[in-house]
Amino acid sequence: MTALQTARDLVAAHPCAVAFTGAGVSTASGVPDFRSPGGIWSRYKPVPFQDFVLDPEARRQYWVYKKETYQDFANARPNPAHHALARMETEGRLRAVITQNIDGLHQDAGSETVLELHGTNRRVTCIRCAATWPAAVIQARLLAGCEMPECDHCGGILKAATISFGQAMPADLLAVAFQLASAVDLMLVIGSSLVVHPAAGIPLAAARAGARLIIINREPTPLDGLATVILREPIEEALPALVAS
Ligand code: ZN
Repeated sequence: MTALQTARDLVAAHPCAVAFTGAGVSTASGVPDFRSPGGIWSRYKPVPFQDFVLDPEARRQYWVYKKETYQDFANARPNPAHHALARMETEGRLRAVITQNIDGLHQDAGSETVLELHGTNRRVTCIRCAATWPAAVIQARLLAGCEMPECDHCGGILKAATISFGQAMPADLLAVAFQLASAVDLMLVIGSSLVVHPAAGIPLAAARAGARLIIINREPTPLDGLATVILREPIEEALPALVAS
């Protein structure tokens, strides 16, 4: 039996799965790649949250990076992997998508229960009063020459509604994710290198609580030893084949 067939049987036998997704799900959608050679982080150093708050120059650099990558994110569209997960949810076979991605493509595909562990690039928020704006509104200000946008309400510092290095994930969101992981009997772990914590602890918690893991990722991950099935095929092909009923 092929690995794909084994995985298909597992999905069929566990009609209430949870998906955990990382950057690999969005690669085929043209979302900018952060970590690979030539990716964003080889051109721009990620700005840790503390530097962002304390250092105006770091903040200015951050917004240059946001301005220059905006259109790549705006152009990205869901691919067959996003659509496959949305369809599973509609059919009642998937409880939730827990994602490390900030691109909003799961929602664009129609997924409704999406836990965005690292926040979203679709909105900008004031770090003082928590007011939010669509990213497009702030992009228009940047294009008009504003270098460091400020809050209209309180004059506070604005930042994309993503979780930066050194910034804690919302505790309530993380708690819900771990709760889902501990109750589920099958987790589809898709396109994540599983090295960024605490997010990577979620599939680990699922496995420790007895869930089967299907890992779909091009490269080996630290959790491969816990997986029931590992698929190395391109995600946008493997996932639709896996969940087709
Ligand atoms: Zn404010």
